[in-house]
Parts: sequence; C-alpha cells; structure tokens
Amino acid sequence: MELACLDLEGVLIPEIWIAFAEETGIEELKATTRDIPDYDVLMKQRLRILDEHGLTLPQIQDTISRLAPLEGARDFIDWLRERFQVVILSDTFYEFAAPLMKQLGYPTLLCHKLEVNEGGRITDYTLRQRDPKRQSVRAFQLLNYRVIAAGDSYNDTTMLAQAESGILFHAPQNVIDEFPQFPAVHNFADLKQAFVDASVRDLSV
Ligand SMILES: [Mg+2]
Repeated sequence: MELACLDLEGVLIPEIWIAFAEETGIEELKATTRDIPDYDVLMKQRLRILDEHGLTLPQIQDTISRLAPLEGARDFIDWLRERFQVVILSDTFYEFAAPLMKQLGYPTLLCHKLEVNEGGRITDYTLRQRDPKRQSVRAFQLLNYRVIAAGDSYNDTTMLAQAESGILFHAPQNVIDEFPQFPAVHNFADLKQAFVDASVRDLSV
C-alpha cells in the first residue's frame, strides 16, 4: 500500500505569509521556513510583527480569499488521488487553509491551529505535535503504508527523509544543495514522473 504525502504552501498553493506581506507592504513578514528553519522562531516573529501593526486574522483571511492554487495544482492533485491515497502535511493553520482546500477538492489536511481572541487578534498557536510531518509519515508506516513525500522547503526535509522516497519540488537552490539525496523537480509534469518512478507499482503518467 502506498501513500502520497504533500506539502501545501509552495507546492500546491502560494506562500500565504508572502502574499499577506505583499498586500500589507511589510517586508519582514516575507520570511518563511526557507529563510528561518526553526518554525517556532518564525511564528513568534510573525505574531510579534502582526501585533506591532495591529493586524488581525480576518485581515489575513481577506488576503487568502483572493488567492488561488498554483497553476496546474488542481490537475496534479486529481491525478495523484487517482493513483495514491493522498494526505497533505502542512505547517499552515486550518484557519488559513480552508478556502484554498475547497479549490483543491478538499484533500485530507493535517496541520496546526491558531488561537484567536474575540477581536480577531492571533494570540498564540497550537502546533499539532513536534516534527509533525515526520511523525505523520512514521505513523502511516506503522499502518503498513509505504510513503512517497514531496515538499519544497526545510520544514519538509525530515518528512522526505522518513519517507521511503522523498522528492523536492519547487525548492530553492540552497535547499537542493543542502539535501542532494532527494531528487529535485520543478514542474508538475516532472513531479508526476517522480511519483511514478518512486512507486513500486506499475503506474502511467
Ligand atoms: Mg512549503
């Protein structure tokens, strides 16, 4: 039995924080896990910046409501779901992801949760668990699934290493250079082929 695990931001949808940084013009909010590998450090910085500018969850959700999946992403995930059980493993939050998941046909999503007060201020966040992407792959393997995983950034690399096969997709050059053990592809046609190559079954693109 094979399971496909996919990162969300940078793979199927745009980086939400970068989109919000562009709308608000706050340069500091452009940092992602590509720049700051420690997710707790990154999230604390983001919440501090939001507070400094008095920005709330509804304002971020307003930006997200105007985003669309990356070109070809819906076709890709439909293709993948015909051939694998698919689970999205993301470090985003359910409060951010919902409208975009609708556009992707509601694949299964495991991610984190925000804590928000009555005024819409994001007061904190609850990470589902430590090293959640790797732990999820481990759990699927305990259920006798063979896992093929794809992601674009530092926060995906433990997931890619834990999986039977890991694939870098849309990764920046510094991540590709640091993790040469993972094949790196840059478009959905090549990502489909990488899943076919990684599968122990006879699949067609
Ligand atoms: Mg990503």
